[in-house]
Order: sequence, then structure tokens, then C-alpha cells
Amino acid sequence: LIDPHVHLRDWDQADQETVRHGLQVARWAGLDAVFEMPNTSPPLTSRATIERRIALADRVCGEIGITHGLYAGLTSSPDQVREVVEAHADLYPRVVGLKLFAGHSTGHMGIVDLEDQRSIYRQLARAGYRGVLAVHAEKESHLGTWDPARPSSHARARPPEAEVASVEDQVRLAEEEGFCGVLHIAHLSVPRTLGVMREARGRRIPFRITCGITPHHALLTAEDMDRPGGALLKVNPPLRPRCLQVQLLAALLDGEVDWIETDHAPHALEAKTTGHASGVPGLPFYPSFLRILLARGLHPSTLDDLTHGNVERVFGFSVPRRAHAGPRALSGEYPFDPFSGVHEDGSCPTA
Ligand SMILES: [Zn+2]
Repeated sequence: LIDPHVHLRDWDQADQETVRHGLQVARWAGLDAVFEMPNTSPPLTSRATIERRIALADRVCGEIGITHGLYAGLTSSPDQVREVVEAHADLYPRVVGLKLFAGHSTGHMGIVDLEDQRSIYRQLARAGYRGVLAVHAEKESHLGTWDPARPSSHARARPPEAEVASVEDQVRLAEEEGFCGVLHIAHLSVPRTLGVMREARGRRIPFRITCGITPHHALLTAEDMDRPGGALLKVNPPLRPRCLQVQLLAALLDGEVDWIETDHAPHALEAKTTGHASGVPGLPFYPSFLRILLARGLHPSTLDDLTHGNVERVFGFSVPRRAHAGPRALSGEYPFDPFSGVHEDGSCPTA
């Protein structure tokens, strides 16, 4: 099992999540590998910071028995793009790919200007980059403000059009600039986006386009946010109205997406309640999610593709499967409370 989209924070944000704790939870959830996103503090946008991160992860990976990979973050500087393309070439598969925030989310790494986005695709094409480019696609000009008194307003503040328009931008820019890697649309939340991708594939674009769906977008809805504690479900892109969530889950069960990605992003409770931080924990619920999909009739071989095989094929390297990983993940037996992260004996794995 591979989760190719988690946030492990650490460093200046160790109160939210740490590399050690995140990898330990991933291991308990039965995962063989996680790939970490670069909007850390400081961000993983320079070779030196990336190497420091790899050294940190290496210290705990062997002990925990899990594979760790990371995405290098992109900025609007052409020199920086070249630097991380080289880092990817030299450090792959520890550096699994690149990440572009085509809209602001946690960490304020958004590259929202269309010409800056174009410049990135141009640099990647010139450098002959053939790896994965994961994109957070929400078009900034479509984003509004939310009303904390009515949490589900977050869904209207970041509407479906923001995702669809941004994905259309990414496909067009990639095509016009001659991008030849894999354009991955992270945490797809709108069924219509799948239509944009199908249409692009139909035009025989010279690059591959993939997408992932999170458990929270597949199961939870904007309406859930208006229930007690619902503000804790604030996440980017937002949970969608039930009519869209149902279609998204159906698309996942039909094997229309490439993989499941949790977008695991815990925050301290205060950051959620008073700081209105976006992001939810995902790793502790991974086994439950797989059980739900199997109960809904997903074929085990499709589940294997969505959780392992497709990720290996697209990223181009294999991740050793630990014999006990799959069955353990599906058994639902946790050594800790998945909601609080606290062990049965009262200890906390953070310690
Ligand atoms: Zn994310």
C-alpha cells in the first residue's frame, strides 16, 4: 500500500505533525510507503532543504520499516525550477516528483499568475523533465471568503469552477509549452474535472494525465460541515455537496481514477478552531476506507491498482510489499485510538 500524498510538517510545525509520528501512523495503518508534500516550514524548495529532509526521514524509516519519498516544491523562479529538476534527477526515487500549488493553500506556496505557471511548464519542457508533476489545482481568481459561522460556506468560497478552470489551465499550458512528464491532478474533488481529463486524453496530448481522490472527498460532504464540529472538516479543496460526492465515489469505484491519496494533514486543535487551518488527518482512517470500498463491491485487484500498482507504474519504481501490510490494514485492529492517536495504554506515539 502506497499513499502518494501526505503532509508531515515537522521542523517549525512539529506541533501539527512530525516525520516520525506520521510515518509511524502510516505503518500502523498498513502502508508500505508515503510520499510527502513540500509545503513544510521551511519549504522543500531548495536542494539543501530537500537533503536535510531526506536525512531526517532516513533516520526513522529503517526503524519503522516504511519507505519515504518527497516532492520538491516549485516556485516561479526559473533557476529554482532547474535546481529542483536536477535534484529530482540526482535523488530519485527519494525525490519522487515535483509539486505545483496553482492556487494558495496551507503554506502559501501558490503560484497564481498564469504567466508564472506557463514559465514553469516551459522550464520543465526545456529540461526534458519526464517525472510526475503533482498540481494543487484551484484557480485563485475564483476563490472567495468563507463564513466561520456557517462552515459549509467553505464549499462556496472555493467552488467547483475553481478546480475545473485551473485544471483546464494546467492542461492547456502543459500542451502549449511542450511538457512531456506526468501531469497529476491531486485530490480531485469535482466530477466535471474527470471530463476535462478525458477530453484532453482524447486529443492525444503528448503527456500523461492522472488524478487521485482522497477518502474525505469520496465519503464526506459539505453538508457534514454544518453538523456539530463540522468546521474541523475544513480542507482545500473543500468537501463538495452530496450530489457531487456521490458521483466522485462512483468514479472511484468504477476505476476512473489512478489512485487513492489521503492528503493526511493534521493540525493542532487550536489551529483548527481559532486559526481555521485547512486539512484533516487521513492516515488513521485509511484501513476503514479500504474496507468501505471493498464492502461497496470494489474488486480487490482494482483496489490493489488504486493503492499500489498504479502508483508504482506512474512514478516508475517499485515499493517492497511487506507481507503483513495488506491484511493488517484491512483487519481494523489498531494499536491506538485512530481519533486521538493515543495508545491503549495511554501513551502517545508522538512522545
Ligand atoms: Zn495536500
